[in-house]
Amino acid sequence: MNKVGIPRALLYYQYYPGWRSFFEHLGAEVVTSPPTNRTILTAGISRAVADTCLPVKVFLGHTISLISKCDYIFIPSMTSFGKKTYNCSKIIGLPNITRAVLPEGPIILDPNIDLEKGRWYFYHQIYKLASHFTSNPVKMKKAIDIAWQKQLAYRKKMSDEKITPNQALSDLYGNPHSASPQKNPQGNLTIALLGHPYITNDEYLNHRIIYHLQNMGANILTSEMASQTAIDAAATKAVGETHWAFEPDIIGAGQYYTEMKVDGIISLSAFGCGPDSMMMVWVEHRAKDTKTPFLPLSLDEHSSGGAMLTRLEAFLDMIKRKGTKLPTPSPAYC
Ligand code: SF4
Repeated sequence: MNKVGIPRALLYYQYYPGWRSFFEHLGAEVVTSPPTNRTILTAGISRAVADTCLPVKVFLGHTISLISKCDYIFIPSMTSFGKKTYNCSKIIGLPNITRAVLPEGPIILDPNIDLEKGRWYFYHQIYKLASHFTSNPVKMKKAIDIAWQKQLAYRKKMSDEKITPNQALSDLYGNPHSASPQKNPQGNLTIALLGHPYITNDEYLNHRIIYHLQNMGANILTSEMASQTAIDAAATKAVGETHWAFEPDIIGAGQYYTEMKVDGIISLSAFGCGPDSMMMVWVEHRAKDTKTPFLPLSLDEHSSGGAMLTRLEAFLDMIKRKGTKLPTPSPAYC
């Protein structure tokens, strides 16, 4: 049986159930790298140029950890998710970046997902990908349909149950997917945590920020805990047409949760990230306009968990001194 490696980094947190289901229904075995650890991070750093952002370094480390364990590595070029809406250039160029810095790796499966080019281009890319495993078009079509349903169910599960990707993946596939419990306790503060899913959900990179905030008595809301429809609509309300793939997750969720009057917002971004330098500033202005306490945190490989804990404690103390209030019901976007 062919083995397909999927690195536990970047878009993994958003699409793993759909991707896994697709390959399994084509008869392949899916192998996933372990949660990020020091060895993985160090390996990724050793192959990347210094000013590469932290999530891409981590991605390379995960890919290295899979090299001897699979026949193929799945690294799609996720270009465009809708009309004139594009991903960051590093995510678009990920297959080529990986080939350049890891020439010893196995064959890279690199479909170009570019919805701007229309439905037929998309299907052509997916059928070409599936042809590595079967020549039966009925089997291919079935794998696509089942994967799509699995993906929709995964997204709905997170918003319905108000859980993070790690919690949802733990429920679906078992424990290696989560290093710490993620269910919200009965906290008396509600904090929105905004950022790219591959930062807010990688517990090694973010020093288990959700776990620590929950232990300090905060309920945490992330973009996945609102429906996709709601954050898409909130992003449109905030900025009109969106042009970056992550605008709903960051600007949309920022708009949505400030309307919900959360007690505070924490933004988590990667040092040197171009898209974040625009989106997080929008969230900061929105927080200022709505008088919502705001804490920006930027991560790189030298970030210290201890320093971050101190800032989190100070932020929550400051909010508590201001006095707390219950969040208003969810805004009506869905
Ligand atoms: S969006 Fe930012 S953090 Fe994500 S891959 Fe691009 S530069 Fe890196």
